[in-house]
Amino acid sequence: MSRKYVYFFGGKKADGKAEMKSLLGGKGANLAEMVNIGLPVPAGFTITTEVCTAYYKNKKKYPKELTKQVKDALAKVEKQMGAKFGDLKNPLLLSVRSGARASMPGMMETILNVGLNNKTREALIEKTGNPRFVYDSHRRLIQMYSDVVMEKAAGIEPEEGKGVRQQLEKALHDMKLSRRVHADTELTADDLKELIEIYKSIVMKVLGKPFPEDPMEQLWGAVSAVFQSWMGKRAISYRRIEGLPDDWGTAVNVQSMVFGNMGDNSATGVAFTRNPATGENYFYGEWLTNAQGEDVVAGIRTPNPINEVGKSEHTEHLPSLETGMPATYKALNSIQKRLEKHYHDMLDIEFTIQDGKLYMLQCRVGKRNGPAALKMAVDMFKEKLITAEEAVMRVQPSQLDELLHPIVDPSVEIKTKGLTKGLPAGPGGATGQVVFSASDAVAWAKTGKKVILVREETNPEDIEGMRAAQAILTARGGMTSHAALVARGWGKCCIVGAGNIKLNYGNRYFSVGDVTVKEGDWLTLNGTKGIVYQGELPMIKAAEENPDFVAFMKICDKVKKLKVRTNADTPEDASRARAFGAEGIGLFRTEHMFYGKNSEEPLFKLRKMIHSKTEKERIAALNELFPFVKKDVKGTLSAMDGYPVTFRTLDPPLHEFVPTRHDEREKLAASLGISTNELNERAEALHENNPMMGHRGVRLGITYPEITEMQVRAIFEATAELMKEGKKPFPEIMIPVTCHVNEIKHQYEIIKKVYAEVCEKFGLKKIPHLTGTMIEIPRACLTADQIAEVAQFFSFGTNDLTQMGFGFSRDDIGGFLPEYLDKKILPGDPFQSIDQDAIGKLMEIAVNGGRATRPDLKIGICGEHGGDPQSVEFCHKIGLNYVSCSPFRVPIARLAAARAVINDKKAKKSGSKSASKKKSKKK
Ligand code: ADP
Ligand code: MG
Ligand code: MG
Repeated sequence: MSRKYVYFFGGKKADGKAEMKSLLGGKGANLAEMVNIGLPVPAGFTITTEVCTAYYKNKKKYPKELTKQVKDALAKVEKQMGAKFGDLKNPLLLSVRSGARASMPGMMETILNVGLNNKTREALIEKTGNPRFVYDSHRRLIQMYSDVVMEKAAGIEPEEGKGVRQQLEKALHDMKLSRRVHADTELTADDLKELIEIYKSIVMKVLGKPFPEDPMEQLWGAVSAVFQSWMGKRAISYRRIEGLPDDWGTAVNVQSMVFGNMGDNSATGVAFTRNPATGENYFYGEWLTNAQGEDVVAGIRTPNPINEVGKSEHTEHLPSLETGMPATYKALNSIQKRLEKHYHDMLDIEFTIQDGKLYMLQCRVGKRNGPAALKMAVDMFKEKLITAEEAVMRVQPSQLDELLHPIVDPSVEIKTKGLTKGLPAGPGGATGQVVFSASDAVAWAKTGKKVILVREETNPEDIEGMRAAQAILTARGGMTSHAALVARGWGKCCIVGAGNIKLNYGNRYFSVGDVTVKEGDWLTLNGTKGIVYQGELPMIKAAEENPDFVAFMKICDKVKKLKVRTNADTPEDASRARAFGAEGIGLFRTEHMFYGKNSEEPLFKLRKMIHSKTEKERIAALNELFPFVKKDVKGTLSAMDGYPVTFRTLDPPLHEFVPTRHDEREKLAASLGISTNELNERAEALHENNPMMGHRGVRLGITYPEITEMQVRAIFEATAELMKEGKKPFPEIMIPVTCHVNEIKHQYEIIKKVYAEVCEKFGLKKIPHLTGTMIEIPRACLTADQIAEVAQFFSFGTNDLTQMGFGFSRDDIGGFLPEYLDKKILPGDPFQSIDQDAIGKLMEIAVNGGRATRPDLKIGICGEHGGDPQSVEFCHKIGLNYVSCSPFRVPIARLAAARAVINDKKAKKSGSKSASKKKSKKK
């Protein structure tokens, strides 16, 4: 038997079904499914995607069986509809609709009313007694067909404004002017009849060919145009952007026409089974009477709300289908309910009403924004329409991100024209007044103003201003620029690299083309999309406290296996992260107490310690520092009561803390009792050529054991005190930048000694804690089995591991990484998402090595990758116990961890060898 290229649908039974999307395309598969569940669908047939592929493989020739299969299917359709294509008594009209696997907006437009010509139309007038409707359909056919088939598919690229469609639209417009009417519907049958002849002559003039009168020629022309459009410029570039393969091909659906333009008892519409903008559970849609096809979407006339609940203050006065055609509305409403039950999801549906009778023309899973996706997932789970696992898969991590930040009100944004675009570096929206320096940002914010800091680019000196601003906008820099990194960490709205902005710091303004924005002018930023607007657009609040959000996170927690911790350096950060659901702290950076707020005093003492020359001097300075460290440690452990907190011992190279200002150096020298010259010499001695690989991390603890000792004592004493207060602190001491097991052995001796002393001092037998190490140097990964003999836990520092694995200095990648990405040397930024090929492999080696020695070894990750959904999935796959990320990323990591469980299950089911399988074999 020859291959089946054509699938019939209609009556009670279709050849296809919903699962056959790859072969029939989304539209075709769902049309078949609707027929199979007994919904009213005009009969038709689908030409498969295989024909498209064969067509392109075979020099644009169809498989030879196709003509006959189409003929047979058409005969079935004719029988079903009781009319004949091209017949002069009872003509059948067809629509030709494209339909790929995934919906591809802008690929090809549908052609309606195929089969009409000067003869068949007279028969149709006879049959319907409605000449106006028939002429209207005829002029629509000419308009669509000449544009899509005769011009676009033929590869003609007319000059701007010279396309056949525009010229026809102009003729329609002129006709309306000359008849002094506004709406198309006001043109009479005679007007339209006249217009058709004008149309035909325009087609002849513009395209040099007559409009085809033969119905069969029209049909095949339309079918070919769909296949042509698959390789059209717009379709190809869309597939490049979305990463869709060319060999999917598109299907073509040929379907009997039903008419929404037969008069006031006819209509057409588009609807969603729930509100796609908010997720609210009510039927939502728009409709138009006496209209055909895309009039609703095209905005030719303002569509009406489908029902009463869907009315807003702007649409209150318009007629709803619910009240206008109650019986039909009831039928439609029960169909939409059935569809949602059948598909277990929110659907987007298209329907047409011909003389009071309802027909379904399309259904597919509806697109939705983040807030709506979350609400629907939670509601449908509660309604038992979907399982917890399905609910988790209904929300993309990026959609959850949309919810965690205030956003620009989408209903206003959609009507507003952007001023310029940049890279979406920090999600969410923000409004504020423009300032051009960090110090102005701080000063204005102090007076209660909301500001947006606009800079060429930012650097570490701008930090305070960046913090004070609602949002940051830069003219230069990429996704890994300073502004982008900082904003992401804070969860702040940020747009970088808005290259059209020309800054004039001196006169305090910037311009985009001929628009000038001055200091103090209002701007609104959409950091999720990278769009800048002039003025102050309304905002919608973030959803942390929204009950649906909380409920959704609970569903995720039920499914996920990975624990999610946060990186937090202050007690305030710790409590915020608890509110986001963090199950502990995966990284507390001791050194952070020497940066931000209230850091002056401890920083001074630290500097004293750094510039000490003798052990004695150093110990004296450390003793002064001790109470500050202990206080921070205690506050953080207390905020995280009952959860583990990982304290990292001092990590950065010491020279970072050397004061640069002369007066500060003088003050420091005085306090140490040495001359400024002497101090300058000591500071000079701390200089390193390559500090990131220099004297830092555990190396400091080895050369200055007293530094480790002070920190560990602070941790144990704070813990002991909290225990006495009846709390349940659980500290984990983490040694950074380890490359050799002997380094940790050395540090452990110190820790053991201090531990015994503190236990003794507080009269405690035991202080619960763990001691472990960061794994952030390739050598540590490769010798993890040895390191695990001492370390009780590992935490991957994937920033440094990536840095050293690639040999890329993270501080210097700005010079080449953007080009690496542009030129596709690298598939993505390895500092944003773990490079699974190599860095991931190092991690796997470390996991396997560590657990071979210590099967219960606790392993986590505390690099920035811990908040990247793809990296979280990878961490799940290789068997980590937890991920740790910045507070704002915690919910995203929780969702990603839950999705990882499901994806992993799916992968195992489909027999692919997942990483965890490989691992269990090795064990
Ligand atoms: P798109 O993929 O752009 O949505 P469709 O193939 O769904 O294109 O066609 C667009 C519109 O054309 C439909 O929403 C419907 O209103 C109209 N249409 C398509 N096929 C028919 C038909 N057989 N009868 C009546 N109207 C149709
Ligand atoms: Mg459609
Ligand atoms: Mg590090």
